[in-house]
Amino acid sequence: MSAVREVSHEASQARRAEVAAALSRTLPRQSVLVDREALKPYECDGLSAYRATPLIATIPADENEVAAVLAVARETHTPVVARGSGTGLSGGALPLADGILLSLAKFNRIVAVDPLARTARVQPGVTNLRISQHVAHLGLYYAPDPSSQIACSIGGNVAENSGGVHCLKYGLTVHNIARVRAITIEGDIVELGSDALDTQGYDLLATVTGSEGLLAVILEVTVKLLPKPEVAQVVMASFGDVESAGDAVAAVIGAGIVPAGLEMMDKLATRAVEGFVHAGYDLEAEAILLAESDGSREEVAHEIAQIIEIMKASGATNIRCSRDDAERLRFWSGRKAAFPAVGRISPDYYCIDGSIPRGALAKVLKRTEELSARYGLRCANVFHAGDGNLHPLILYDANIPGELDTTERFAADILELCIEVGGTITGEHGVGIEKINQMCSQFRPAELAQFHAIKAAFDPEGLLNPGKMVPTLHRCAEYGAMRVKGGALPHPDLPRF
Ligand SMILES: Cc1cc2nc3c(=O)[nH]c(=O)nc-3n(C[C@H](O)[C@H](O)[C@H](O)COP(=O)(O)OP(=O)(O)OC[C@H]3O[C@@H](n4cnc5c(N)ncnc54)[C@H](O)[C@@H]3O)c2cc1C
Repeated sequence: MSAVREVSHEASQARRAEVAAALSRTLPRQSVLVDREALKPYECDGLSAYRATPLIATIPADENEVAAVLAVARETHTPVVARGSGTGLSGGALPLADGILLSLAKFNRIVAVDPLARTARVQPGVTNLRISQHVAHLGLYYAPDPSSQIACSIGGNVAENSGGVHCLKYGLTVHNIARVRAITIEGDIVELGSDALDTQGYDLLATVTGSEGLLAVILEVTVKLLPKPEVAQVVMASFGDVESAGDAVAAVIGAGIVPAGLEMMDKLATRAVEGFVHAGYDLEAEAILLAESDGSREEVAHEIAQIIEIMKASGATNIRCSRDDAERLRFWSGRKAAFPAVGRISPDYYCIDGSIPRGALAKVLKRTEELSARYGLRCANVFHAGDGNLHPLILYDANIPGELDTTERFAADILELCIEVGGTITGEHGVGIEKINQMCSQFRPAELAQFHAIKAAFDPEGLLNPGKMVPTLHRCAEYGAMRVKGGALPHPDLPRF
C-alpha cells in the first residue's frame, strides 16, 4: 500500500532524547530503540492504512523492565502503547507519535502446564497456536483459534477478547482464561481471576479482557485447556444465493445444534481463495457454508446427518463431507487464508467486523450488496456465520485519490447497519481507532462516561493507549453532525482522554 494516512506529527528530537535518557538509566541498551529505521516495523498493526512512528520503542525482557518503562512514562508524562504481534485489525497497537511503544515480544515463555487442572500459564508474547502445539502430546488444546493464530499473541488475544472459527461452541478468549497477571500504569502488579471457577468481588478479569491495552499491561495469562475431541468432520454446502445460505445458518442453530464451527464465504471470497490454497471450493456457488461437528464418533455421525438434512432442506445445491482429517483441514485452509487471499485480487482491502442477530443475516448481506453497488466498491464476505459475526472485506485501491475515504464511509454504513438490526460494532477485532466513531452510535453519552470512569480508576492520567476504543463526548458530537450531513469523520486526530 502506498497511500496511507500518516497520523504522526514529527516528534521533537529533544523529547525523544529526554525519554531515551530516562529509559537508559534503568533498561539495557538493547531494550530501547530510537533510530527511525529500528522504529519502522512498529509503525502500524494489521490496520495498515494508519501509520505513525512511535517516539521510542522498548522491548523489555522481564517484569522489572516493564515496570521501569511504566515508571519513565509516569515521570515524563509519556503515553504507552502495548504491542503483542501487531496483527490487530482495528489499530489498537497503532503507536503514538509522542508515545512509547512497549513490545511484549520477549515475553515468549510457556511458564507451566498443569494437565490435571487443564491449564497453562503463559507469557503474553506466546503465540496462540504455540499453546496448542505445546500441549498436543497431552491430548489437550486451547480452543479459541483466530485465523491469525500462527502469529498473534495470547496477550493480544486477551486485550482484544479474540475469537475464531471454534468460538461458536467453545466461547471467546474471555471464556477460556482463568487468570491474568498484569501491571498497572502505577506499577502495581495485580492478579485478576483465579484458578477456581469463580472469584469474590467484581469480575475484573472480564473487565481487563477486551480492554485493548487501556487499563493495564498483561504480563501472564492462565489459559484453560480442553481435551482434543475424538473426531471432527466438516460439511461443505453450496448455495445458489447468500440469502439461502443465511437461512440455513439460522435453521442449524434453530434446530438446537451447536456446531464446532459454522462459517460462510461468498463467491468473490471462494474465487479469491481457491486460486491461492486449492481448498476444493465450489466456484459456481454464490455462497458456501462450512459446518464442523466434533466429539465422539457417534455424536459426530448423528450431528453431521442432521446438518446435511438441514442444508438440503434450505436449498443446498451441492454437499460434501470431509472423508478424513486431511480433507477437513483442506476445507478449513481456504477459510483460514481468506484475508490474505483477498489481498491477491485487490491492491488493498479493509476488513470490517460487526455482529448481528443470526436472524438478520440475509437482510444485512442484501443491504451490504446494495451498499457495494452504491459506493462502487467490491465487497467479499467471509465470516463466522454461526455467531452472526460478519467480516465484509471491502476491496479498494489506496492509490486512487479518495478511495480510502469512500471505503471508510462504506465501512461506517455497514457498522451502523449492524447497530440498526440490534447487533454490535465488533465481534472480535476490537474498536481501536477503526470503530471509535461508531462507539458514539452504539452507546449513549452516559454509558461512555462510565467507560471513561473505569479508565480513570485504572489509569488516572490516561497514559495507557489514549485515544483508542472510547471516544470523547466532543468527538461524538462531531460524528453526529457529520452523519447528519452525510459525511464521515476521519478516524485519527487521536483525541486524548
Ligand atoms: C489475517 C488475519 C486474520 C485474523 N483473524 C482473526 C480471527 O479469526 N479472530 C480474531 O479475533 N481476530 C483475528 N485477527 C485480528 C488479530 O489477530 C487479533 O485481534 C489478535 O488478538 C491480535 O493479537 P496481537 O498479538 O497481534 O495484538 P496486537 O495487534 O499487537 O495488539 C492488539 C491490542 O492489544 C493490546 N495489547 C497487546 N498485547 C498486550 C499486553 N500484553 N497487555 C495489554 N495490552 C496488549 C494492544 O495495545 C492493542 O490494543 C486477524 C488478523 C489478521 C491479520
